[in-house]
Amino acid sequence: MVATVDHFINGQMTKGQSGRFGDVFNPATGEVARKVALASADEVSAAIESARTALPKWAETPPLQRARVMFKFKELIETHIDELAAIVTDEHGKVLSDARGSCQRGLEVVEFACGIPHLLRGDYTENVGRGVDSYSVRQPVGVCAGITPFNFPVMVPLWMFSIAIACGNTFILKPSEKDPSAAMRLAELLKEAGAPDGVLNVVNGDKEAVDTLLTNPGVNAISFVGSTAVGEYVYKTGCGNGKRVQALCGAKNHMVVMPDADLDKAVDGLMGAGYGSAGERCMAISVAVAVGDSADALVDRLGPKVRELKVAPGTDSEAEMGPLITREHLNKVRGYVDLGVDEGADLVVDGRDLKLQGYEDGFFIGGCLFDHVRPDMRIYQEEIFGPVLSVVRVPDFAAALELVNNHQYGNGTSIFTNSGDAARTFANKCNIGMVGINVPIPVPMAFHSFGGWKNSAFGDHGIYGMEGVRFFTKLKTMTSRWPTTMAEGAQFTMPVMR
Ligand code: NAD
Repeated sequence: MVATVDHFINGQMTKGQSGRFGDVFNPATGEVARKVALASADEVSAAIESARTALPKWAETPPLQRARVMFKFKELIETHIDELAAIVTDEHGKVLSDARGSCQRGLEVVEFACGIPHLLRGDYTENVGRGVDSYSVRQPVGVCAGITPFNFPVMVPLWMFSIAIACGNTFILKPSEKDPSAAMRLAELLKEAGAPDGVLNVVNGDKEAVDTLLTNPGVNAISFVGSTAVGEYVYKTGCGNGKRVQALCGAKNHMVVMPDADLDKAVDGLMGAGYGSAGERCMAISVAVAVGDSADALVDRLGPKVRELKVAPGTDSEAEMGPLITREHLNKVRGYVDLGVDEGADLVVDGRDLKLQGYEDGFFIGGCLFDHVRPDMRIYQEEIFGPVLSVVRVPDFAAALELVNNHQYGNGTSIFTNSGDAARTFANKCNIGMVGINVPIPVPMAFHSFGGWKNSAFGDHGIYGMEGVRFFTKLKTMTSRWPTTMAEGAQFTMPVMR
């Protein structure tokens, strides 16, 4: 018998009733560590009902008081950050230091949300007409739902619900069924911080739970982070049901290495961004674009480093890369490496057969490096989401920019160069949402916003930062005149201010 992860509804741990369960693995050993309850439509509806009931009171709670809950929540996350990181490593597999870093990046969004009284300040214009004033406020959207991916089980939920709740909304989180435990712990901590019952609910589940959130009229807004195919479905279905939807999706991030770049720094950047978290990051670099004569030296330096990557369970303090999330995903990533060989790319480093003594059933793969990858290959076009870096050789800067811009995805990109002109032109002309200049993973800080372009996002708001505040609030604008200044008589023409 293994333990089950159930739901958190109306402030209580709530046993799953559907009789359906998913497996949650320890990816380092390959064993089923626990079972996760998969919610039925009725169970999700109960969570929506709880959020709807809690909404009016929470929306009327002054922002300053909501901020105080966030301050306390921030403190509790700080106190429990090692525990949260350990849960992430246990169920996701990434190395502990990386898991801790991801919790820290989530915490920074909570810190941002602590400033909500300031962030919700409205605008006021006196005398837009004679004796007439106009002012705007931002009010909560209502009941919001978050559907999150497996790769950041603490950070991505915090991107969403800390801002949504600080703005006065109530929330239902549907975490990834592959690593659900961290979300449950976050819900307990938010309750301990003082959030009333029903303000944050967690339902575990699969498509049935998601579909209920997308179609139930009690949900007003949906924030999704995950793959492009599911994100597009969530966006279309949610919008079709009259909800506000943002969907942040898949990626294929390119790093352009110019011939004048500091090669050691570029190689270090590629190693961390390509193989950190075993490539299971939406901001991972999966394509190195070698410009001009930089390619041979780049591949010569990368090869030995990729071969020497220390792959081990995430709990090993020496580990640079842990296992992948599931055997199914491991097989998918291996399949892409097989495909790359069939497509004619040069497999410079082959990590497919890596086996770790004592962890033979773990979902491990070694780092893989392809050279001479071409844009017509599927390993170039599709997101692999594993530790597989493809080097594409191009003759010059213009070809590099064209390559980046022609790709279906537009999440992040970076350029390594010592030329201010190349860097500026690249930043200005690339058709991508987040750009790094000599920075390999340009994930914006909490007080900026995160969001991709093209097939990396659907909807018109980024996530967290002011974009998050805008997404989770509705704008209302008042125009007011008091009787002492009232004009006489009815006006039947379009009002203009005189
Ligand atoms: P996924 O799309 O498989 O799952 C995401 C969520 O959708 C999960 O909660 C899952 O239960 C649910 N889901 C899965 N299939 C569904 C279906 N058919 N109908 C309804 N709901 C469904 O993604 P994943 O594998 O968990 O995460 C990896 C993906 O997420 C990658 O593509 C990665 O690039 C992307 N990602 C994007 C960002 C970003 O900000 N752009 C951040 C992190 C991850």
